[in-house]
Amino acid sequence: MSDSSRAVYGIRMRTPFRGLTVRQGLLMEGPSGWAEFSPFPEYDDVQSLAWWHAAQESATEEWPAPVRDQVPVNATVPAVHPSQVPAVLRAFPGCTTAKVKVAEAGHPPAADEARLAAVRAALGPAGRIRVDANGAWDVETATRLLPRYDRAAGGLEYAEQPCGSAEELAQLRRRVGVRIAVDESIRRADDPLRVARLHAADVVVLKVQPLGGVRACLRLAEQVGVPVVVSSALETSIGIAAGVALAAALPELPYACGLATVGLLEHDVVADPLVAVDGMLPVRRPEPDPAALAASRADAATTAWWRDRAGRIARLA
Ligand SMILES: [Mg+2]
Repeated sequence: MSDSSRAVYGIRMRTPFRGLTVRQGLLMEGPSGWAEFSPFPEYDDVQSLAWWHAAQESATEEWPAPVRDQVPVNATVPAVHPSQVPAVLRAFPGCTTAKVKVAEAGHPPAADEARLAAVRAALGPAGRIRVDANGAWDVETATRLLPRYDRAAGGLEYAEQPCGSAEELAQLRRRVGVRIAVDESIRRADDPLRVARLHAADVVVLKVQPLGGVRACLRLAEQVGVPVVVSSALETSIGIAAGVALAAALPELPYACGLATVGLLEHDVVADPLVAVDGMLPVRRPEPDPAALAASRADAATTAWWRDRAGRIARLA
């Protein structure tokens, strides 16, 4: 590929996320359009292979036919003080579903409960609230806390990855009345279908890059046989467009998707970012804008690192 069809970006994040202050990745143009390859820096080449397959698919294959022209998306509420909740939600105009981060270090259950009550007050009775514990609890703790959180929230839509392993989630699911969604247990597993065999999930969260592409996710969705929520891996609008393509092609989409994340970046590489309007993302594929791309370019050392990484992984693929 020529230099003009590849670019390495480095964009500061508005709020540090999973320890990242700058998001980086490689954008490449193929016959079907632009693609994003942005495995997190600590991922090794083997872990990054699925991300490479996803980028190759975006660059070289047409996406499956959409069955809808917009995709509902959720707001994300980090572990903030309850008084900050309305301001957080204002950044997601029209979103009636909120994902609330819980079980973070230094935040006791009472703080999570107060935040959930504030989210309910802001969204009103028709709003939907889900929690994400990122696998922080053991089965006992989750069994004790989820009913409390369900009451504090005035009803939970589901709890995402309350425990770490698929076995724990399967046990928990038999003990509590709250629906269980799996995220890490499917995306980091050697065998993503184990969650289905164990009946560990009411909902699965699928992310295009770590799971190897839009088509790979559609196959997985069919095999797991439970509703899917499509989430991002904190990409620019180029990567988000692949998530939107997946969400648009799923036969059923009963829950809002976690694709309203470009606002976490200080800027974007396109002139018309994939941001929600009335709680929905339009199904479209933006192209990089030369000026925005130039303003997002990574420094020479970072660019060399990503080109080297992509070269090694392309040889592995
Ligand atoms: Mg999650």
